[in-house]
Amino acid sequence: MPLKIGVIGTGMIGEDHIRRLTQVLSGAEIVAVSDVDARKAQAVADRIGARRHETGEALIADPNVEAVVIASWGRTHAAYVLAALAAQKPVFCEKPLATSSADCRRIVEAEAALGRRLVQVGFMRRFDPAYVAMQRLIAAGRIGTPLMFHSVHRNASVPPSYIPAMILDDTCVHDIDISRWLLADEVKAVTVKSARRNSKGRADLADPTLVLLEMAQGGLVDIEISVQIGYGYDIRGEVVGETGTVALSTGSPVDLRSAGAVSGHVPEDWRERFITAYDEEFRHWLPAAAAGSATGPSCWDGYAATLATEAAARARDSGQTQTITMIDKPALYASPNGDQGPERTIFAAGG
Ligand code: NAP
Repeated sequence: MPLKIGVIGTGMIGEDHIRRLTQVLSGAEIVAVSDVDARKAQAVADRIGARRHETGEALIADPNVEAVVIASWGRTHAAYVLAALAAQKPVFCEKPLATSSADCRRIVEAEAALGRRLVQVGFMRRFDPAYVAMQRLIAAGRIGTPLMFHSVHRNASVPPSYIPAMILDDTCVHDIDISRWLLADEVKAVTVKSARRNSKGRADLADPTLVLLEMAQGGLVDIEISVQIGYGYDIRGEVVGETGTVALSTGSPVDLRSAGAVSGHVPEDWRERFITAYDEEFRHWLPAAAAGSATGPSCWDGYAATLATEAAARARDSGQTQTITMIDKPALYASPNGDQGPERTIFAAGG
């Protein structure tokens, strides 16, 4: 029997997840959708034969909905996650888990009170074959103790609904999560510098922004966030260890040599660059949700990342380094696969 899923948010990524759940993966049936844009939601509902609910809360309460995918605007996530936890329904929540650490903390406390994980957060980089290979090589000691991580996150453009706060709490949140995962460490302090503004872009965005993370065990992470780079979607990363380095390949699948020049392809957007990772994170979520549980990126990961983006916003506004104090980690998130992503090997990192 396929898992009966309700999807809240039928925007860009909501539509993309509906496509993968209905056309790419097996074991899922979308029985309900909801979006603040009722016309958009109705069009999707009619197309896939699902019921449209007026609100996300009504969708969560629908007895026919066994599990919930939250793909609405980040600022709406917390209320939906809390409602799904209250209904004890498994959740896939797009990042960020919530845009305030207070909301993330409420979610962590609600899930810990249940005593079992029900939420997987959409930190899909942990399922990307290249990042998985990097993480496995680091964990296997192939570059010695990791000391630094250089991360680059460049978007070609952002939609009009992208507000200035999203540079940190919606975009940089990915780089913060992957830093924690690759270095197996927590963020201790954050410093932020805004560069000379990209004059080709919107005047209200501090673009590009440079974020420096100090990790608890002494590692350093520098993150470039550029959200209007124009030429494509460019994700880079290199971890520097005591005896070696490991970097994401920046090459395109093929090099074109023509007219005296070498050229390659840059992905258009996140859908293209991370298509495998999105598929894999749902392959991971579906069986766990069908069993009434969750593994992979957790509410603790969502809390830790948002705590750091909040500190980054304070650092940017004050010009001062901000230190981070975390709550005690509930035992629920200390299990072997509780907060460190996929257990199964997607890409062999040997050799
Ligand atoms: P989007 O195209 O703007 O879609 C968001 C959708 O949610 C829109 O249809 C929006 O309606 C709707 N919405 C807004 N408030 C809502 C509410 N209260 N209840 C129900 N629906 C509501 O944005 P998106 O790019 O799909 O992003 C959605 C989420 O996915 C964000 O959290 C974003 O960070 C995340 N995301 C993750 C990745 C990734 O790499 N993991 C990539 C892209 C997006 P209106 O258009 O009418 O406002």
